[in-house]
Amino acid sequence: MQKVEIEEIDRVAIQLSKIPGIGLKSAKRYAIWLGEHTHETKELISYLERLAQNIKSCKKCFNLTSYKDGICGICKDLSRDSSTICVVQSLENLVEIEQSGVYNGIYFILGGLISPLYNTDEVLNRVEYLKKRVKEEKMGEVILVISSTTEGELTIHYIKEQLKDTGVKISKVASGVPIGADINYIDKRTLAEALRSRVYI
Ligand SMILES: [Zn+2]
Repeated sequence: MQKVEIEEIDRVAIQLSKIPGIGLKSAKRYAIWLGEHTHETKELISYLERLAQNIKSCKKCFNLTSYKDGICGICKDLSRDSSTICVVQSLENLVEIEQSGVYNGIYFILGGLISPLYNTDEVLNRVEYLKKRVKEEKMGEVILVISSTTEGELTIHYIKEQLKDTGVKISKVASGVPIGADINYIDKRTLAEALRSRVYI
């Protein structure tokens, strides 16, 4: 392979390796495959373009949405219990809980945890927004599905403090979630069980 082609492959590989779970070695393999399969690559490009153009972050919960008004299907769904809001770390957690089918409230994605080690302004802003929503929409319960790691506990404590004067009930997932476990690595059934046996804090 000539130098120019190798650079093209490398550029694609570097982009692919930004996706969580894809290492540079796998990324390179994918990039080479894409380079060898131009028909599939062109198809993929058109799907990615559509995805990038139509998908945005939900204005209410930060889930993904393709609705023009920027509100996701879950937030729009009137059959859901909008007085119960489940605070999750990531979209992945939302998807897992949805698939488990044990929850019928609405969600709020934090997008990370509070940490003294790096900038978490975005998370702090989202907690502020959560507080505003809990107050204005007179919510009855906030369920925290957050890792029991040090940063997770810090985040839980912070949210509890912020929501103190709203009068909302706050619960967190307990049993089934091993102490120190990262929510992202807990399987669906465990997560569902944890949600069912949550404790009030
Ligand atoms: Zn939403």
